[in-house]
Amino acid sequence: MKTFSLKNPALCIALGALLASPAHAAKTVSWEDIVNDDKTTGDVLTYGLGMKAQRHSPLKQINTKTVSALSPAWSYSFGGEKQRGQQGQALVHDGIIYITASYSRMYAVEAKTGKRLWSYEHRLPDDIRPCCDVVNRGAAIYGDKVYFGTLDAGMVALNKDTGKVVWSKKWGDHKIGYTMTGAPFVVKDQKSGRVMLVHGSSGDEFGVIGYLFARDVDTGEEIWARPMVEGHMGRLNGKDSTPTGDAKAPSWPDDPSSPTGKVEAWSHGGGAPWQTASFDVEQNMVVIGTGNPAPWNTWKRTKEGDSPSKWPSLFTSGQAYVDASNGELKGFFSHTPNDAWDFSGNNSVLLFEYKDPKTGKLVKASAHADRNGYFFVTDREKLATGAGYPWKQTALIGAWPFVDGITWTKGFDLKTGMPNVVESQYPPKPKAGEEKGESIFVSPPFLGGTNWMPMSYSPVTELFYIPGNHWAMDYWTENVTYKAGAAYLGQGFRIKKLFDDHVGTLRAIDPKTGKIAWEHKEQFPLWAGTLTTAGGLLFTGTSDGYVKAFDARTGKEMWKFQTGSGVVSVPITWEQDGEQYVGIASGYGGAVPLWGGDMAELTKQVNQGGSFWAFKLPKR
Ligand code: CA
Ligand code: CA
Repeated sequence: MKTFSLKNPALCIALGALLASPAHAAKTVSWEDIVNDDKTTGDVLTYGLGMKAQRHSPLKQINTKTVSALSPAWSYSFGGEKQRGQQGQALVHDGIIYITASYSRMYAVEAKTGKRLWSYEHRLPDDIRPCCDVVNRGAAIYGDKVYFGTLDAGMVALNKDTGKVVWSKKWGDHKIGYTMTGAPFVVKDQKSGRVMLVHGSSGDEFGVIGYLFARDVDTGEEIWARPMVEGHMGRLNGKDSTPTGDAKAPSWPDDPSSPTGKVEAWSHGGGAPWQTASFDVEQNMVVIGTGNPAPWNTWKRTKEGDSPSKWPSLFTSGQAYVDASNGELKGFFSHTPNDAWDFSGNNSVLLFEYKDPKTGKLVKASAHADRNGYFFVTDREKLATGAGYPWKQTALIGAWPFVDGITWTKGFDLKTGMPNVVESQYPPKPKAGEEKGESIFVSPPFLGGTNWMPMSYSPVTELFYIPGNHWAMDYWTENVTYKAGAAYLGQGFRIKKLFDDHVGTLRAIDPKTGKIAWEHKEQFPLWAGTLTTAGGLLFTGTSDGYVKAFDARTGKEMWKFQTGSGVVSVPITWEQDGEQYVGIASGYGGAVPLWGGDMAELTKQVNQGGSFWAFKLPKR
């Protein structure tokens, strides 16, 4: 509206009528809008606030000097009895916020006032199998539609202006454990010019085969599908394409007595890419983390008599580089070869560039903070050009611990790219005739040095901000056989504290040196994502209900606000009519209260909730 001159009274009236009418022509979202999302401050069109998922905003009205005055502008309740587990990151477009909530719900709300425009509640069957709460992490937007995944292994496209269903696709069998909690992502195949919706499956705890999908944005039809277990067949345009990796799957042991000739686990091997991709536009490459191998029990994926380290269970627990044109795997780096601890590799893989301190050369890199406690920097160009595929660990630039007390490895060898695993950290098999193995102490536990909650990168400070946790587990093997729809773990566990005075550890890390620039401790586990701004701030939430702002350079806490329930979601910021807003969902839940042992006990005192909060500075 800034481009209009309002001197003409006739135009003023016409414009007034236009704005007052609910039917005013809504703007559609173009690929140009999406690819420039990180630069445009009036909207948030992607999970990750840009193709590279850096979660950084150029906005600076709210800054280290003004943030102390930050106040609530409005709060919106998701309503109903379904209060738990609000992990969504909202989108903003044309003055409207799109928020997803637990139990596969979505709301469109006026970004300025919090007034509801429409709501959508997906009808869920009784027999869904989400491992780690009924959460949803957000939507995608393109054209005149918003898209989100549902707990019954579906994808729904809604008209963004009315909330009416345009298409709804079931992509997996929820009865055997397929589900979806991550936000989908829109990419454009740079070869064909086709815009596609990319999303993964969840379900590793039930022994699914994890898939990454690309779909037609208008119809939901599958364009390609890429399984993440070596030797399983991909699809392109409705036909078999190529197997993932080597068709013979040499990274999974043989079992001549089984119908497939492979160990049972290979047919149920996990690797689900259940979080959101980033997109390397230059290389036309979808970048995504892959989940843990199934079952968790490493001996089910290891040849009798060998060390598990000989059987990497490809292509699980790593970062995958997939050709947007055809779904072919172009590169892969394993964070945890033969992952025996459910570390998975799912959480965000951020794309960034930096000048090599030694050569001054620009390095195009990926960064990932893994549940295994290590922060990885990998060479994205090497991974795009075949250096990582078939599997080689040659793209590793750096691997540094971002939490203390790691027991499973003594570190990574930068030459081989491989971890130096402490052999006694593979939990021993049950003795003959026994159901359980001896319990060992492991840190980080499967809940991770960090988890799903996305980190952020500030190009201003050149630091990464990782919401981490210090904790550990008692861990033991259990006998397991695959049964459709039942948990397929083969492990037992109890989560414990590592330190008396804190669990949460928010840390800033330098990607060139691995040096921790600062740390902020929290009493409760951290389970919310981070956001940085050009105003020198870092925003996040805490399980005891606060939204907090920190000085991104020093880690000094600058501001907090109590929302009334635990904050386990992802903050955003946007600008409207000259004012900067910060928005975040509140509502405790997720994996910690369900799986967290001593930490579930600790956080019992947190009230349930379900609301979205918007903050801004008071008008001068
Ligand atoms: Ca934007
Ligand atoms: Ca898992």
